[in-house]
Amino acid sequence: MRNPRPIHTVIEPFRIKSVEPIRMTTRDEREEHIREAGYNVFRLQARDVLIDLLTDSGTGAMSAEQWAGVMRGDESYAGSDSYHRFKEAVQDIFGFRNVIPTHQGRAAERILFSTVCRAGDVIPNNTHFDTTRANIEFTGAEARDLPCAEAADLGTPGPFKGNIDLEGLERVLAHPSGRIPLAMITITNNSGGGQPVSMANIRAASEICRAHGVPFYIDACRFAENAYFIQQREDGYEDTPLIDIAREMFSYADGATMSAKKDGMANIGGFLATNDDGLAAQERDLLILTEGFPTYGGLAGRDLEAVAIGLYEALEPDYQKYRIASTAYLGDHISAAGVPIVQPPGGHAVYIDAAAMCPQIAPLELPGISLTVELYLEAGIRGVEIGSVMFGHKDEDTGEPVAARSELVRLAIPRRVYTQSHVDYVVEAILNVYDRRAAMRGYEITYEPPFLRHFTAEFEPLG
Ligand SMILES: *Cc1c(COP(=O)(O)O)cnc(C)c1O
Repeated sequence: MRNPRPIHTVIEPFRIKSVEPIRMTTRDEREEHIREAGYNVFRLQARDVLIDLLTDSGTGAMSAEQWAGVMRGDESYAGSDSYHRFKEAVQDIFGFRNVIPTHQGRAAERILFSTVCRAGDVIPNNTHFDTTRANIEFTGAEARDLPCAEAADLGTPGPFKGNIDLEGLERVLAHPSGRIPLAMITITNNSGGGQPVSMANIRAASEICRAHGVPFYIDACRFAENAYFIQQREDGYEDTPLIDIAREMFSYADGATMSAKKDGMANIGGFLATNDDGLAAQERDLLILTEGFPTYGGLAGRDLEAVAIGLYEALEPDYQKYRIASTAYLGDHISAAGVPIVQPPGGHAVYIDAAAMCPQIAPLELPGISLTVELYLEAGIRGVEIGSVMFGHKDEDTGEPVAARSELVRLAIPRRVYTQSHVDYVVEAILNVYDRRAAMRGYEITYEPPFLRHFTAEFEPLG
């Protein structure tokens, strides 16, 4: 018999076996902590944070099965069983012939780009993640972002705002300003608001690359979230299992880089995969030099086990349903109350538009920093500024500071860590801050290091 009254509440599809207390603090204590941290949330001690939404990278909770795998880990230096289980899982889902384990995503990027790139080359991508860009630029090559046109309109929703600009890709490949050793697409598009890429876009980008003889790679960090968005939003995939959607996405590619700290559901790990045997041989040589033997690549056997199991758990339909519903719940509830966010909410994070929320604070007075400080003071919540501190620069001629394209605060959701009431608490706290947004003021930088200043800079409130 059909259930006459279906239940709509989306629940966490797990129960909790081991708990980690989080520490409450008073507002007075938080005022002292944030002042001592130079108003930079990266400099806070994690124990002084109540709900930590700094990143979804490596911060997830592992399952009972993964912990069991940790105990099974084979720590043999060469040819361990754990490596074989890891390789089989990656080949089963991703389908690439060569699987090279690395300690995290950027190690895969460094090995790939230092093998294929030289000065003057160009690597197109929908949007490069910051470590991807840095590893490309380190070789002297250019990292070129080609986001689709809809991505520029932050407040207008769309199903696949993570897509690559196909005409732009065709133009770059037809009239290259330098050698193009490969092109890439990042799923989901992390720097572009955590937005997904459609299967049609992946397929078309792959066809363009093949027509020009350019290898096509996928930055696969959030491949399972992307597969879920395709299932929910793209015609023809509503009944396709997530694992088959994943297999089809990778069938269009010649290789992939992966951080297992995201949809590997592990606290550390990554890999580089390719169908090119000659290239893989060169990459393994470099791996041995800097990461480790090709059957562990800088990871312990137990880490390989956790990833092998986690890759399948990320593709479980109930997990993805809960994951994406939980992020959307946060985004939709604050948006309904007027808080401007990047629309629609992403897979792994909600991005608040701090410039739109606080128009009285000019971009170079750092509205994103002001909002991260307020969220911490209000409720012990840690988000991250993705704006002029992270992406602003100095004008080459005048030395004057130039603002970033947007002033966002990202609230990234760790996997399987927080419950619905944690999310409700975050919603309430954001709305309290929103109510007194007119009283918020800007910040100035009082200390900054020469590189990647957002991690260690210090600030002071203005006025
Ligand atoms: C996290 C991430 C990386 C880098 O991975 P790490 O494990 O942090 O080194 C690369 N690309 C994207 C899209 C990411 O989100």
